[in-house]
Amino acid sequence: MWRGARLRCPSCGRRTLFRAYLKLNPRCPSCGADFSHSETADVAPYVTVMLMGLVVMPSTLVLVLNTGVDAELMLVPSLLFAVLAALFLLPRVKGVLAALLWRARREM
Ligand SMILES: [Zn+2]
Repeated sequence: MWRGARLRCPSCGRRTLFRAYLKLNPRCPSCGADFSHSETADVAPYVTVMLMGLVVMPSTLVLVLNTGVDAELMLVPSLLFAVLAALFLLPRVKGVLAALLWRARREM
C-alpha cells in the first residue's frame, strides 16, 4: 500500500505504476508485474471525495467558527485548497487501491 501511495510498483518499488497522471501501466516495465486487473474504476475518486469531505469541511468550519473570519471570504481559498488537494490525492489513492488489487490477485 505504501508503495502504491508513492506511485511506485507494489512489486519492485520502482516508479513504474503509472504511465500518465491516472493511467496505470498494464505491466511494470521493470519487473513485469501485471497491473491489467488492477483498474480501480470509480472507487479512487469516491474515496478521494470522501477523504476531502472529512478534511476540508471540518477544517473550514473550525477556522470560520474559531477565528471569526467571514465564511464567504473562506469560500475561494477552501475551494482552491480542495481542488489542489484532490488533484494531489487522487493518483495516490488510486495507487493504494491498485496495489491492493494487485496483491489480492497475486495471492489467488
Ligand atoms: Zn515493478
